[in-house]
Amino acid sequence: MLSVLVLGAGFGGLELSTTLSEALGDEVAVTLVDKGDAFVFGYSKLDVMFGRTTLDAVRLPYRDVVKPGVRFVQETITAIDPEARRVTTDAAVHEADVLVVALGADYDLDATPGLAEGGNEFYSVEGARRAGELVRDFSSGRVVIGVCGAPFKCPPAPSECALLLHDQLTARGVRGDCEIAFAIPFGTPVPPSPDTSAALVEAFAARDIRFVPGHRVASLDPARKVAVLDGDGGELPYDLFLGVPKHRAPDVVIASGMAVDGYVPVESATLETRYPGVYAVGDVATVGVPKAGVFAEGAARVVAERLIARVRGGEADGYAGRGSCYIEFGAGRVGRVDVDFLGGPRPTGTFQAPSDALVAEKVDFGATRRARWFGR
Ligand SMILES: Cc1cc2nc3c(=O)[nH]c(=O)nc-3n(C[C@H](O)[C@H](O)[C@H](O)COP(=O)(O)OP(=O)(O)OC[C@H]3O[C@@H](n4cnc5c(N)ncnc54)[C@H](O)[C@@H]3O)c2cc1C
Repeated sequence: MLSVLVLGAGFGGLELSTTLSEALGDEVAVTLVDKGDAFVFGYSKLDVMFGRTTLDAVRLPYRDVVKPGVRFVQETITAIDPEARRVTTDAAVHEADVLVVALGADYDLDATPGLAEGGNEFYSVEGARRAGELVRDFSSGRVVIGVCGAPFKCPPAPSECALLLHDQLTARGVRGDCEIAFAIPFGTPVPPSPDTSAALVEAFAARDIRFVPGHRVASLDPARKVAVLDGDGGELPYDLFLGVPKHRAPDVVIASGMAVDGYVPVESATLETRYPGVYAVGDVATVGVPKAGVFAEGAARVVAERLIARVRGGEADGYAGRGSCYIEFGAGRVGRVDVDFLGGPRPTGTFQAPSDALVAEKVDFGATRRARWFGR
């Protein structure tokens, strides 16, 4: 029987395990490993931060991942030997015919001097919860939302943060006493889609949110309360700094020797690494697509189809590098951008303006994953 070891139960690992189980049932032995006890959708972090839901309501416990052929183990991976396809955890040693690395991207707060002491990140579950408390207590002064390095997960998310922050301050009647500035290293909020970017820039202008494109936050000076931008970007004074930290592959992946320039290189059509029988999907891999759940999920489906073909025969399609991201525009409005990163000479994106239908579609997006992955 084909044995598959899936490292990481995020977007990629959950989709891979579910697709294998649906197609092969007990004909496959999947071991799904994660150090956590629950999954949280990326966008739920913003919902928690802005008080639209609670952490308890958005935590999806892995004990609910009950599927034929799949065994979940809560263990911390401490070493990966890609040549032997052997993985050591704090509790066991696992070996398998196929290894799929889906360990996501970690945050490197130390890469931005001053961030840990003088700022806050809102990209982890705990960071978003804490940032939410600070935002709720904030009633006057300057807020800077700043991206500390690219690539970073879900490129529209910091734009969404700026718009949702505006709503929150407005609802509490303190928006007039607050300034919001938003710095991002890209020239536009969503570079592959000029229409999406234009809609976001218009939304910032309408809300008096200062948009500072083309610069990342290189450091914070907590004593002077300024965010220092790279290049000739100057400084942004802040009373509250909400940051997207620099990302990097988890330490255990770097230590395994699989990473090149920080992430794991793969064949973009097959998601195979240079090690036979070892794949990498999602944020941990270098595929030429953004770091987002929909791309991790799409890559996982391609690997699943290849493994299903290995058991059942047949052909599997290559990875297309397309995905749709929902974007919160504030005031309960949701738009969508459909991006294609591998289909042409350069990435392209198509914008759908906010609508009630897209609000419902985003809810459905979460509900279908929740049902397939967690049976609830
Ligand atoms: C604020 C925010 C909003 C977002 N909004 C969206 C959105 O609207 N749409 C979208 O598509 N994407 C969104 N994203 C991005 C999305 O969450 C990620 O890109 C996605 O989760 C990546 O999937 P993955 O499977 O590669 O990694 P992850 O989902 O990060 O999963 C990796 C898993 O590996 C585990 N792990 C790591 N190291 C170890 C170890 N040593 N031992 C054991 N387990 C380990 C982790 O616990 C984790 O569960 C958002 C992200 C953020 C931060």
